[in-house]
Amino acid sequence: MSKDRRAEMKERIEELVREFLQVIGEDVSREGLRETPERVARMWVDELIAGYFERPQDYVKKFRVDGKSSNVRGDLVIVKDVPVRSICEHHLLPFFGYAHIAYIPTKEVLGFSKFARIINVFGKRLQIQERLTEEVADYLNTLLKPMGLLLVMETIHTCALVRGVEEPMHMVTVASRGAFKDDESLRSEAMSILLAQSSLSEFRKVREV
Ligand SMILES: [Zn+2]
Repeated sequence: MSKDRRAEMKERIEELVREFLQVIGEDVSREGLRETPERVARMWVDELIAGYFERPQDYVKKFRVDGKSSNVRGDLVIVKDVPVRSICEHHLLPFFGYAHIAYIPTKEVLGFSKFARIINVFGKRLQIQERLTEEVADYLNTLLKPMGLLLVMETIHTCALVRGVEEPMHMVTVASRGAFKDDESLRSEAMSILLAQSSLSEFRKVREV
């Protein structure tokens, strides 16, 4: 999408946010709100829905695994704790958490940070978690052509936290392709690794303090 079109979109959203504030009885000229419409418009267009203006392939640089010289082929690769950020299309509120991926490479493997980039492109759109999980799994499956792929997404939906049940409920969605779809025991073995509490999570807690 052109720069002009995005600027136009921002301007229009800014007007709508100003109108929204007026409808709920706010004084849009008061100090705290004066710059809110512009700030909210920028946040939506440049961040929350930036995925509409990008394609996952913009971020992908694969490298091939040579079957002869490498042991990678045919073994399980697990990528855990890839951040997920998205917007629930039912309430326009964020949901966030982590994705865990298991795959059995044939020719292609993908650098760690690329998983985060790809998930981000699909995440920065209006979503429901079920569709986000399927879209990411389908994209990775087409890209990597693995023998099998398993994607587990664990999130907290702020729409459940601030309204309705008012509890931080976890939502877990699973997508399986290839060998993980066909072989139940392989799937449950991978699933237990993906969902196991990692001893590294202690490391993450320490780092976040
Ligand atoms: Zn929701």
